[in-house]
Formats: sequence, C-alpha cells, structure tokens
Amino acid sequence: MKNFLYQISWRIYRAVHSNGLLADLVYSAAYYYQQFIRRGAYRRAEKNVVTVEELWKVREFKSGGGLQTGVTNICNAKCSFCAYPKVVANKTLQTGVMTFEIFKKAVDEWAAIGGQWLDLTPVVGDPLVDPGLLKKVDYAVNQARIKSVALTTNAILLNRNDIYKKLIDLGINNIFISTQGASQEAYEKVYGVKHYPEVISGIRNLLEYNFKKGESASIVIRFRNSEKPSQIVRSKDFIEQIKPFLSAKVRINFTVDFDNWGGTIIEEDMSGFMKLRKLPPALALPCQSLFSFVVRHDGHVRLCGCRLVRNDMDDLVVGDIHDKSLQEISKSSETWDIIKGFYFGKRPETCRACTFYRPVNRLWLNDRARHNSMQVVTKTNPLPGLV
Ligand code: SF4
Ligand code: SF4
Repeated sequence: MKNFLYQISWRIYRAVHSNGLLADLVYSAAYYYQQFIRRGAYRRAEKNVVTVEELWKVREFKSGGGLQTGVTNICNAKCSFCAYPKVVANKTLQTGVMTFEIFKKAVDEWAAIGGQWLDLTPVVGDPLVDPGLLKKVDYAVNQARIKSVALTTNAILLNRNDIYKKLIDLGINNIFISTQGASQEAYEKVYGVKHYPEVISGIRNLLEYNFKKGESASIVIRFRNSEKPSQIVRSKDFIEQIKPFLSAKVRINFTVDFDNWGGTIIEEDMSGFMKLRKLPPALALPCQSLFSFVVRHDGHVRLCGCRLVRNDMDDLVVGDIHDKSLQEISKSSETWDIIKGFYFGKRPETCRACTFYRPVNRLWLNDRARHNSMQVVTKTNPLPGLV
C-alpha cells in the first residue's frame, strides 16, 4: 500500500513538473492554497495555545533536530529577493570564513549527542566560496559520521576544481541548488551577476556525475523563478541539461512566494512571476525557527538560521561555542528570554515583520517532544515554578 501511494505521488509530481500548463496551474493555485492553509494554522495555534511551560520542557538542543554550520557568509551572487546585496551595500555585514577548528568543534558536539542532520548553509552566503569546504564535508561525512550532510548552493562554483565530483565522491547526502530558471536574461536580472553559463554547466555536470555514481546524493533544484514554471520546463536548457536526470532522488520545484527578509525585501524587488508572501499576524507565540541553531563562521551561535535584516550579529545571537556547548546555550537564559519574549510581544528586530514567521503549535510541539525522546507534555502536566 505504501509503495502504491508512493508511486501515485511520484507520478503526480512528475506530471506537474514536466508539463508547462500543469506546472503553471498548480503553482499559481498553490499561492492561494498556502495562504488558506497558513490562515487555518494560525487560527488553530491561537485557539489551542502552546504554553510557556510546555515549551520550557522541549527547549533543549537534542539530536532530533538539525544543526546549521554557516561555513561562510560571503556570497558571489546579488539576488534581488535576498537581503545579502543590501547588507553588503549598507556595509552592515561583517563577513568571514569558518576555520576547520570551529567547524570540528560544532560537529563533534553534534555527533556526540547523536545529531543526524547537518547543514553547511549559512544565513546568507554560498558554502562553495569556502576554500576549506571539502575538508569539512569529508570530516562530517566520513569521520564524525553524521547521517545526513547537506548544503545549499547557487551553483556558480560547482565546476571550479571539479567540486561537483568531489562532493559526490565524499558522500554528501543532500545538495540543494537555488537558481532562477533556464534563461540567461532572467537569471542575470534576478541573481544580479553574469554567471549563467557556469551555473547551467555546473548543474549538468553535477547531475550527470551523480547519475553515473548511482545517484548517491539527493539533489533538489529550487527555482527562485521570475519566469513562469512553463517557460522553464519548455526551455532548451531545461530539456537538455536537467530533465534527463530527474528521478525520485533528483527533483525540482518552483517558488510559490518569496519572503520579505524581515521587511528588507519589498514588492519592488519582485519581478515577472515572483510574488511576495503576505505578512502573517504577529501572534503572542514564539516562532518554530527559534528552536534551530546556526553556528556563525566565527563560532557565535544564533537562533534561526534562515533570515537576517541588517547583519547576523544581531539580537538573535545567544552565545559562542568557544565559551559554552550548544546544549548549554540552548538552556541558557539568553535563549529562553528571546523565546519567552514572544508571549509578551517582545520580538528580536529580524522577527518583527517577518513573513517566515511560523508560530509554535501543538503538532510541532508533539513532534519536537517525540524527537527529543521526551514524554509529550500537556497543559495538565506543566512543570512548576518555571519562567
Ligand atoms: S539568495 Fe543565496 S545566492 Fe542569492 S545573494 Fe542571497 S545568499 Fe547569495
Ligand atoms: S520570525 Fe522569522 S526571523 Fe524570527 S525566528 Fe521566525 S523565521 Fe526566523
């Protein structure tokens, strides 16, 4: 039965992502469908509130989640939908590359508590810019033996020194590629740089090599598209360079809506088919993303690995792995004060107008409790004397 359902969903997925008309229809409808789903989720979260006491019990950083080690916050693109070009132009971002020692410290800690998922992607920046990336991937995969090692790249540097081959040979598990589509003109407009030929050739080389090696890595191409999905799936480059390699392990998707990077990205930054996500209501509930950690290149630990407004050394920073372990930081008053603050309308700057905001809810809570190997906490069983 499971296999049957999988086959059906795979066939639907393949039909949607290879037929232009279907892709346009599904992704246009998805914009409204997602809004509808989110509205329902906010209503349920408000109705059946996760309490401060319940959150306290699941706040600790444990193996069930994921760890992000931002190996560098330097990027070689200037995407119109990302805060990076703006914070660089405003000179508010201090950039750097993570040393192997800092990386090893974070990964060793993560491996010691049984961590399964490691993502080398920074809040902004491209991991392939890091000259020591391959040594880090090798360490995480083959020495620390983290089960799933992943990174997201804009693919500009995939061909440099055959990185695409080395990533596969080292045994990386997941590669996510973020790119515009399959048109040079649209790429240059959205990514702000003239690297389309390298990107499409790097993607092709990676897909082909991964195929030759028995698809050892899962690859997802996430189109940050200003073109309609139909324009991409009907384009020559897509048909010749990408489509032949699509499979259950090599997939594509299109962007339904773009988030606003805490208000940094506005309607004027959108072009073509791009739509900005609507700002959700600011409920008196913490965001789910506060429970994931990103280690900055210099060892600072920050809550929420996905967004920034002015820089990544902001009021979401809660410690430094040189001083404390990740688990100690997760249980520290600095971390808890930020989480608890949401209940009282106090939010870090990046969170104040963030369209990525996802309030904690009961489903999320139960999932986290299960992952943390704890008993599911209930309102009727709160811990006394917290907060
Ligand atoms: S979205 Fe990624 S690739 Fe584009 S500028 Fe931002 S960090 Fe760089
Ligand atoms: S509100 Fe936005 S910036 Fe804040 S934790 Fe959530 S996703 Fe991150």
